[in-house]
Amino acid sequence: MGKNSSIEWTHHTFNPWWGCEKVSQACKFCYAEAWAKRVGEDIWGRRAPRRFFSEKHWQEPLKWNASAAKDKERRRVFCASMADVFEKRADLDAWRTKLWPVIEETPWLDWLLLTKRPENIGGMVPWKMNWPSNIWLGTTVENQRYADERIPHLVSHAAACRFLSCEPLLGALDLAKWFPIGRIRSRKLADVYPFAARKDNFVDWIIAGGESGSSARPMHPDWARNLRDQCAKSGVAFHFKQWGHWSPIEHGNEATRRQLILESATGKPVVMEPLGKKAAGRLLDGRTWDQFPIRAAA
Ligand code: SF4
Repeated sequence: MGKNSSIEWTHHTFNPWWGCEKVSQACKFCYAEAWAKRVGEDIWGRRAPRRFFSEKHWQEPLKWNASAAKDKERRRVFCASMADVFEKRADLDAWRTKLWPVIEETPWLDWLLLTKRPENIGGMVPWKMNWPSNIWLGTTVENQRYADERIPHLVSHAAACRFLSCEPLLGALDLAKWFPIGRIRSRKLADVYPFAARKDNFVDWIIAGGESGSSARPMHPDWARNLRDQCAKSGVAFHFKQWGHWSPIEHGNEATRRQLILESATGKPVVMEPLGKKAAGRLLDGRTWDQFPIRAAA
């Protein structure tokens, strides 16, 4: 029971329900909506119903927790890949109320709660300053507008780990306001911040990636590099998940009709080709970037 998710940065995915409504530019080609349609579910949009699950489904995290405890190895759970945990709808309240004790009862699992609606968090969780130490709280930031709107909400919560999913990355980001100045290495979260007393406004982990799918919007390599360099300067963990559909290619050949030429700050144009997610891979400047925030042992 080591890993049942194909997402690089998590071991498991758990969905308290399926279905959502689009809220920002990052949602334009929502893979979850496409997947739900493919399996015959009409559950996207304000008026559509959501899909809920049986007790058997809700037992899964308890099994993962038992397995992680037996192996003495913490596991990450992405919640939710087919929904947004903080979507405001009355019919979701009971299911959220069911989720919080599951998180508290699974201390060997680190729960990654990723949302595009961080403004709703405070009114929906039962914790004020005393967040369970196994919650990693994240928000999606696809461009500077959403960095400025969403991160202040995120950092107002004293979760042990706070992270940003910069995927699909649609513009350059300046995150200096939420990065510590001059921190030179990843800190041990539990060592540095007693969970109930976290008062800084920093984020601890950045996931970056380009968009997948044939209609994908290309990610300029400079945006990804710049994020990596900001992280390195402040000691914030950086995870480069994927190029997505478009990948930079070595200059040399004549540009074909499939290719895109992007301007670059260096003056040297960047050639992007729609290789598809698998072929495009996840190397940035010749290597993978798989950093995670360091967490003290449970
Ligand atoms: S918030 Fe997430 S799940 Fe909901 S529509 Fe947007 S991308 Fe899809």
